[in-house]
Amino acid sequence: MVHWPEQAIDGLGQSVVSPAVNRLSDPDPELGISVDATDIADMAGNSISPEGIGGDEAFRLFAEVIEPSCLAVDHPRFFSFIPAAPTRSSLLADLLLSSTRIYGGSWMEGAGAVYVENQVLRWIADLCGLPEAAGGVFVPGGTNGNLSSMIAARYAWRQRGAGRHDAVRGVIISSDSVHASVPQAARAMDCEMVCVPGDDAGRLCRETLQRVLRALGNDRDRVFAVVATAGTTNAGVIDDLDAAADAADDLGCWLHVDGAYGLAAVCSEQSRGLFAGVERADSLIVDPHKWLFGPFDSCALLYRDPAIARAAHTQRADYLEVLQSTDDQGTPGWNPSDYAHHLSRRPRGLPLWFSLASHGTTAYAEAIETTLAVAREGAELIRSASHLELLLEPDLTVLVFRRRGWTHANYVSWAREVMEEGTAVVLPTQWKGETALRMCIVNPDTTIGDIKVVVDRLL
Ligand SMILES: *Cc1c(COP(=O)(O)O)cnc(C)c1O
Repeated sequence: MVHWPEQAIDGLGQSVVSPAVNRLSDPDPELGISVDATDIADMAGNSISPEGIGGDEAFRLFAEVIEPSCLAVDHPRFFSFIPAAPTRSSLLADLLLSSTRIYGGSWMEGAGAVYVENQVLRWIADLCGLPEAAGGVFVPGGTNGNLSSMIAARYAWRQRGAGRHDAVRGVIISSDSVHASVPQAARAMDCEMVCVPGDDAGRLCRETLQRVLRALGNDRDRVFAVVATAGTTNAGVIDDLDAAADAADDLGCWLHVDGAYGLAAVCSEQSRGLFAGVERADSLIVDPHKWLFGPFDSCALLYRDPAIARAAHTQRADYLEVLQSTDDQGTPGWNPSDYAHHLSRRPRGLPLWFSLASHGTTAYAEAIETTLAVAREGAELIRSASHLELLLEPDLTVLVFRRRGWTHANYVSWAREVMEEGTAVVLPTQWKGETALRMCIVNPDTTIGDIKVVVDRLL
C-alpha cells in the first residue's frame, strides 16, 4: 500500500497558512523581479527526486525562491497587461475552496457551489440586461470564454443551416483591435476572420462595419458571429455595441461581446451607459481576475439562450449520462461542465461570490469608480506634462501615451530599468505602428501619486 507520509504536513500547516494569511494582509508587497532561466535553475536546482525533498524543503523553495521571482501583479504600480487586484476576502475564499476539494463540474457533485456561482452570473446578467433565461459558467479565462462562445455560435449557425453549413468554413467578423484569443479560436476551429478597420481610436463603428458587410457578397451566409469588444486590451476602447448588434441582426447571426477587461464597469451606474447594446448579446464574457477584484483564474461566460450552449458543449458518454438526469423537482440540475469547452473544473466563481456577498454590490461600484477617477486624473496629468503626449482619451482605465523624442530602444531600456529598481511595471506597446507606453489601472489602491511616480520618472 502506498503511504504518503502526510504527518510531515502537520507542522507544515502552520508554516504554510501563516505566511499565506500575512501576504493577504500585506498593504505594501514587494513588486518582485523577473528572473532569468539560468538564475532560477541555480537557485532552485532540480527538486524532483525518487525520495522527495520533504515538505519543509519544498516550502522553503516556495518562500525563498519561487515567490520572490514572480512579479506581484497586484502591486499598485504594476500597470502592464491587465493587472490583478483581488480583494482579501476573494483570496481567503480561494484558500478555502482549495482546501475543501469541492468539484464544480456538475450539480450532483457541487450543488451548493454551483448555486452561488449562478447567483453571481445572475447579477452580471441583470447588470447587462440579459433575459431571465440567461445563464452560463465560470471558465479559466477570456481565452476559453471566447472559444466556448464561438463554438456555441457556430453550432447555432450549423443547426440553422439544417445541413447546408455543415461542410462550409464559417466566418467571424470583428474589429482589428479584437483580442488575440479570438483569431486563436478561429484557428482552432478552422474558421476565417474578417477584420473591420477601427476608427481613429481603434473602435468598431457603424460606417466601416456596414461597408464590410456590403463587400461580403456571397460570403454573407458563412458569417456565424460578430464579435464586439467592450474595452480593448491595448487601449480600453469600447466598440459601438449597438452597431455590432444591428450587423448581427442583419446577418441573422450571433453577437458575442468580449468584455473580459472592460465590461466590469457595468457595475457602476455612472459608466453603465458606455455599454449600450450589450443587452442584445447572445453571449458575453467578463473576467473576475481582471477588474472584478477576484483571483486567477476566472472568466464569467453568459449565454442569452443556455440551451444552445448546452447542446454545443455537453460531452456524451456512458459514464456521464447519470449527470443528465433530472433532480427531485423534475428540473435538470445545472451542470457547469455543459456550457463550455471543458469538463472537470473547480468552482472558480466562488471567490468572487464570497467577496461580492461580503462587501456588497455598492462596494464593487465604488471600487470601479475609484479606478476610473484615478485613470481620468492620470490622463490629465499626462496631458499637462510637456515631456509626454496622451495618445487618446481613455474610455475606461487604460492610458496610452508617448514620451516626446524617444525611440523604441529608449522605451525598452527605460521600462527595464524602472522594473529592475522596483519602481513600477510599465511596458511599451504599439499604437498606430509606433512604440508608446501603456498603463492599465484596475487596482483601487493605485493613487494619482503612483501615476505621478511614473510621469516624473519619465522626465
Ligand atoms: C485579457 C483578455 C482576453 C483573454 O482573457 P484571459 O483571461 O487572459 O484568457 C480576452 N479578451 C480581452 C478583451 C481581454 O482583455
